[in-house]
Amino acid sequence: MEEYTKPLPIRDERSAPFFDGLLDGELRLQHCLACDQWMWPVTLRCRHCLSDQLEWKASAGKGTLYSFALVHQIYHPGFADEIPYNVAFVDLDEGVRVTTNIVGTPNDELAIGSRVELATELVTHDMALAKFRVV
Ligand SMILES: [Zn+2]
Repeated sequence: MEEYTKPLPIRDERSAPFFDGLLDGELRLQHCLACDQWMWPVTLRCRHCLSDQLEWKASAGKGTLYSFALVHQIYHPGFADEIPYNVAFVDLDEGVRVTTNIVGTPNDELAIGSRVELATELVTHDMALAKFRVV
């Protein structure tokens, strides 16, 4: 595996189920057992009903491209070879919005409203990132 030179997310006790899911090819999110709502980012209590009865559950990993921006500035040397790169907001079918990158489609062909699906990217032996591709 080629050395990954970009900053990595911080995996901690609370976010471990999310990152473990990505290593298994799943987008696992917290789901409220009391009101059946999904949550992102990681939280201690349901944002809808304040219950602490949350479970980790695999989402379908499908959604719609809500919006995106192209980054032209090199904020970190690890991104120098990829500018401009996209930063996208995807509305998952479960009702939460995630920040991600769209892969496999040239930036000038990205279209708001496109259907997308999870495309995990293994970047180190124990870290995968949640990216999306147009379907
Ligand atoms: Zn709830």
